[in-house]
Amino acid sequence: MRRAIYPGSFDPVTNGHLDIIERALKLFDEVIVAVAINSQKSPCFSADERVDFIHQATVERKLAVRVERLDGLLVDAAQKSGAIAIVRGLRAVSDFEFEFQMALMNRKLVGNVETIFLMPKEDYTYLSSSMIKEIARLGGNVEKFVPACVLKALSERNEKNANPGGGRSLY
Ligand code: ADP
Repeated sequence: MRRAIYPGSFDPVTNGHLDIIERALKLFDEVIVAVAINSQKSPCFSADERVDFIHQATVERKLAVRVERLDGLLVDAAQKSGAIAIVRGLRAVSDFEFEFQMALMNRKLVGNVETIFLMPKEDYTYLSSSMIKEIARLGGNVEKFVPACVLKALSERNEKNANPGGGRSLY
């Protein structure tokens, strides 16, 4: 059984992430999507929401993955789950420096887990979760870039923010 782990914040999951999952599933028997719950970034969506979005989106696309929370060191989770590889997505040269450093550090920490980089379909190379959140916040349409459950959550969030009390507004 060749198992890989795909870690990230997934705040929220985008079609770019799903493209990487689909590619990883062609190479590995099992892919674990590991949602970082303790990262230094302060997420917009809770860990439960982020896990749930990935569940819904992968079931909808018939991508058979395990979705888990990642609380602690990635290499520890990789070893514990028996993963032989860490999957990361590379969009552009700008991703490279950080990813390179992280991959080499992880290799220093444990020698038997390889990091592999997959490139998404060109249409998704400019996609990032933060850009999606910003466009949605400003009222732009992100339908082409995220799964339906995320689209719904982003518009609900916008409505709530526009009318925080939930009651009638005079302006
Ligand atoms: P992190 O905070 O760990 O970077 P992200 O959720 O932003 O978490 O990304 C997780 C992984 O998915 C990273 O390897 C990132 O480069 C990759 N990724 C993010 N967006 C895309 C995309 N549009 N296409 C391909 N890979 C992506």
